[in-house]
This record gives sequence, C-alpha cells and structure tokens, in this order.
Amino acid sequence: MGTVVLSIDAELGWGFHDFAEPPRDRLASARQGWQALVDLCAEYRVPATWAVVGHLFLDDCDGRHRDHPAPPGWFDHERGPDRMSRSLRFADGLIDRIDESDVEHEIGIHTFSHVEMGAPETTATQADAELSAAVDAARVHGVEPRSFVFPRNNVGHLQALSDNGITCFRGTKPTDDPRADGAGAVDKVARATVSDAGPPLVRARRNSLGLVNVPASLYLFGFEGVARSVAEPFVGDPVAVQARRGIDDAAAADGIFHMWLHPNNLVAPRDVRRLRSIFEHLARVRARTDLQVRTMGEIAADVLADTAPKRVATDGSDPA
Ligand SMILES: [Zn+2]
Ligand SMILES: [Zn+2]
Repeated sequence: MGTVVLSIDAELGWGFHDFAEPPRDRLASARQGWQALVDLCAEYRVPATWAVVGHLFLDDCDGRHRDHPAPPGWFDHERGPDRMSRSLRFADGLIDRIDESDVEHEIGIHTFSHVEMGAPETTATQADAELSAAVDAARVHGVEPRSFVFPRNNVGHLQALSDNGITCFRGTKPTDDPRADGAGAVDKVARATVSDAGPPLVRARRNSLGLVNVPASLYLFGFEGVARSVAEPFVGDPVAVQARRGIDDAAAADGIFHMWLHPNNLVAPRDVRRLRSIFEHLARVRARTDLQVRTMGEIAADVLADTAPKRVATDGSDPA
C-alpha cells in the first residue's frame, strides 16, 4: 500500500532572518500563503506535518533572548528601526488555524529560531537549546512535538533531537546514486529504464539513535524563476508533472512519496494552481486505489512499533 506525505516548513520571517536581502515577495505572502495552505489541505482532505519554527508559538518576547545560546546578533532583527515586523515573528493565530482544521494535521517543529543544525559553527549547546526552546514553546500551546524538519535540510546534531523527545525527522532526498539508502525499487527501475524518471519513492527507517528518517522525495518549489517560465509553455507545470508521477508511483508500489514546501512559496496565483492541480490528482488516485496520505509522525509510530524489541510476558506466555 502506497503512502503520500506532505510536510510544511512553517516559518514566516524566520526562514530569512539571517539574510541581508530577504525575498520580499515571499515575506509579503507568508501569512496569506499559510492560510491558503490550511484551506487547500481542508478542501482536499490532506493531513500534513507542519514543522513550525518554535518562536512562532510565543505570544511575545523581549527581542533579546539572552538566556538562549545563539550566535552574536542572531536576534538583532527583532528590535531597532529596521526590525522584522511582528507579523513575521509571531504566528498570532496561524497555528490555531492548523488546530481548528477539520483535517488531522500533525504539528512538529523546525528549531526555535531557524538555526542550521548541520552548519559547522552550530555547537551542540546551541542545537540542544534550539530543540528544547522549541519543544517548550510548543508545549505551552498544547502540542507535544514528535516530528522535526531541519532548516535548509542541513542535517546535524541528531542527538539533540533524541534528547528532546523527537522521534522523526525529514531526511534529505536520496541522491541519484541507485545504491543510495532509501531509494525505492520502483524508482531504481525507473531511473534505469527512462531518462526522465519521476521523483524517488522513499522508505522510512529507524537509525541507531532510534529516530525515524522519512526522507524527502520532492520540493514543490525547487524549479522556479526563468527555468519554470521557459518550461511551462512546453510541458505544462514541470513540478506538477513530477508530483503526479510521484503520486502514481506511490500508488503502484509499497513506497512513500514525500513532498514538501513552505507556505511562503505560495506567492502568485500560478503557485496556488500548482498545488491545487497536485491535490486534485491526489484525490483522483485516492478515490480509485488504497493510497493513503499520512503524517510523518504516523509513519514513525508504525516503524517504531515494528522495530521495538518484543516484550516477553513474565509468565512466559506470548503477549499477543
Ligand atoms: Zn523573540
Ligand atoms: Zn526553514
């Protein structure tokens, strides 16, 4: 039985706060893109894993976070004349929109302040603080986060995840190397037989720390700018074509197709059209197959149950 996973890196302004020139169009669309994504997921009954930057759970802050180990100047954009607007630093109701949806979304975390966990300058102390502060903020909101997405997919300090109750993370997309761990059998065949192979199906696996890796298959906005505009008149939306192939492949095989995006990717009407066309295809395939849409946390729970050491009852009977 195939599975589709949608994960969402929900960060408002935090995804760009260390940029000298943040992309203004994406920041301007961040809040409305978030709401549009909640609405589309509800319309097409798509439960997603929302990996939310921990700071967004806060109601307010001092703009300094002196107790939080971070690089010098890391929170400078929270104050002063050029500060990032409040609407980009706090969710102010947007996380409630996820909670209130009729669809059973999962809420995970995306660090506290979008520190790149795999960057060489990120210390173990900073990594642990990013996890624990995000978990604390989520708990105040009533969320016990289990799933994690690495900022910029820069994987590192996995121990900090494990130490803070996380059970699942989104790993990087398998490389084109057919021996790469996680590449599905169907994908390997496709790569070997056709030149324009679809995105990889992936497999969720438990690592030595007991964390479940649900690798990415396709970033839904990784083919933008001039390349997209050149391709569209000839092949239609190339990413929608790829996503449809991933959905079809997942339905045909026992694999996972894991797509992801940011709410602030929904900048223009054509971006919403892309997502709608993917969701429409997903709905058609779900209607005629047993394809499931599941959250990262649900998948991880199954993997952990399957790989847990078998308990033996004290009287020697088989604990059914
Ligand atoms: Zn703050
Ligand atoms: Zn991010």
